[in-house]
Amino acid sequence: MITDIRGLYVHIPFCIRKCNYCDFASLGGSFDEHIDAYIDRLLSEAEEYRENEKVKIDTLYFGGGTPSLLSLERLEKILLPLSDIFDFSSDLEFTLEANPGTLDYEKAVGYRSLGVNRISMGLQSIHENELKILGRIHTYTDFLECYSALRRAGFENLNVDLMYGIPECTVDSFGKTLDAVTALSPEHISAYGLIVEEGTPFYNMRKTLALPTEDEEADMYYLASEKLARAGYSHYEISNYARAGRESRHNLRYWHDEEYIGIGVSAYSYYKNKRYGNTRSLKEYLSSAPRENYEKIDGEAERFEYAMMHLRLSSGIDLTVYKERFGIPFAYGKEDRIAEYSERGLVSISGNRLSLTEQGFYLSNMILSDLL
Ligand code: SF4
Repeated sequence: MITDIRGLYVHIPFCIRKCNYCDFASLGGSFDEHIDAYIDRLLSEAEEYRENEKVKIDTLYFGGGTPSLLSLERLEKILLPLSDIFDFSSDLEFTLEANPGTLDYEKAVGYRSLGVNRISMGLQSIHENELKILGRIHTYTDFLECYSALRRAGFENLNVDLMYGIPECTVDSFGKTLDAVTALSPEHISAYGLIVEEGTPFYNMRKTLALPTEDEEADMYYLASEKLARAGYSHYEISNYARAGRESRHNLRYWHDEEYIGIGVSAYSYYKNKRYGNTRSLKEYLSSAPRENYEKIDGEAERFEYAMMHLRLSSGIDLTVYKERFGIPFAYGKEDRIAEYSERGLVSISGNRLSLTEQGFYLSNMILSDLL
């Protein structure tokens, strides 16, 4: 849907140390050397979006990397020009990703005073052996201290990232992680399955990693769905669970196929019906390398993106809206496949909405590549 309100994503590509599984555009240990030049470059990129009638923004998301490495002064140095270039709405959802060990009470209070109202924390596991294997910089105790500091500082909207399928992780150990985190009652929980990506230390170690089997991983996925539903979280997207009204508004924008602007290394934008991305190389970004993958989305590509994004959500696709927008029914010519998935309990059709079931979510890659 094209609206004149967008989301703004700001990528901070620095971390204290690179985690063993990490495939994000982030660099370990190079923060001080590059951060000020990086902020200058970010702001010059943001200037490209200055318009006479300012672009309206109602979600702002600082992702990374580890944005919580930013001092209050540096965060303010970024925010002041951004709030001049863009028109931030009065009910702005302002999320900042944080890692335990990089955020204390004082900084949390400062972030609140600068308008941050949602923190997304990377925990992954409560078990020290699993955190160590992942190469995380923090312990579970660090996380608990950070969580408590955020609550005391007045944050009422927190997300905790969890991971299953970690080497040495069992269904039982993952269940304990879920129980401990739901007992804290964050407003939002994300649970992602580990993917061993090429180019990461885990990829080189893949033959020796004690990874859970596919069946165990499936059990972990269903355990998360079950325990989180029982704890009052709605499974609104394949990997995301929220208390009522606490879904990530910024991420919903991606899944609803709405426009957003991304600035920084590796950041993608979908703006004025075009999609484009920045280089993943910090060096190239700092030297103002041109954007990559510049493409106008229309025709089949637009239908594909729309369907793929909407089917990640429990609300699925509105078949009437789809047909009105694209002029043909969803999955035209594949009605028999839909009927088969529906019989197998993987797809649900209710009124004019088609969505994936819990089981369908787990098999979404296979279903989407078949239908789209
Ligand atoms: S903290 Fe996040 S972005 Fe940084 S290295 Fe670890 S997984 Fe990657």
